[in-house]
Amino acid sequence: MIVAIDGPAGAGKSTVSRMLAERLGWVRLDTGALYRVVGLAATRAGRTVKDPDLGAFAAGLAIEVEADGIRLDGVDMGQAIRTPEASAAASRFAAVPAVRDALLELQRHLGRAQDTVIDGRDIGTVVFPDADVKIFLTAAAEERARRRLAELEGRGEAADFETVLADIVQRDKQDSERAVAPLKKAADAVEVDTSTLDLPGAVEACLAVVRQKVG
Ligand code: C5P
Repeated sequence: MIVAIDGPAGAGKSTVSRMLAERLGWVRLDTGALYRVVGLAATRAGRTVKDPDLGAFAAGLAIEVEADGIRLDGVDMGQAIRTPEASAAASRFAAVPAVRDALLELQRHLGRAQDTVIDGRDIGTVVFPDADVKIFLTAAAEERARRRLAELEGRGEAADFETVLADIVQRDKQDSERAVAPLKKAADAVEVDTSTLDLPGAVEACLAVVRQKVG
């Protein structure tokens, strides 16, 4: 079984997906983490989005996805991929068709292995168009910026609201307007707006969608 959760940055996808998977007793696959690892690795290797062999580069990376995290060349990437630079690099390199192709099979392979809650931008539209359940998780940009700011402050990182909001608006634009696999709601996805929901409320709303679809 596959539950696909797509939506813009900051709608609560990561936490909701993790908690939903826990409630269902399924695994969770964070596809944003895959793009972040590729974006970071490409940046570290001095690659640009114009490089002709980015697909081979991405396909050749030794990425391991386990329940306890994601590793590159055996090194845990959990922290390194959560910086604003890694977010920006992920979004930039995710717009390259060859990079998306390279990650497509990996995502399908991982998702098919067991019952999975899989979250990203194009899961219900491209990666698993036949997913058993599709949820489009969204929230107003200002609310998403407030949440991101609180998260950054919680980690002791300096940030201001306007910068965080601008970053979110920029990433929405980049993710929605790119030519390949843009962020958009699948025709058969159920939209869950978390603007006025707290975390347990958002998880319950998603759980209700899952139960309604698959009993
Ligand atoms: O979800 P997260 O914010 O970690 O994703 C980082 C970036 O990776 C997104 O802004 C998006 O550009 C890209 N991404 C994608 N397709 C996915 C998951 C993430 O293009 N399925």
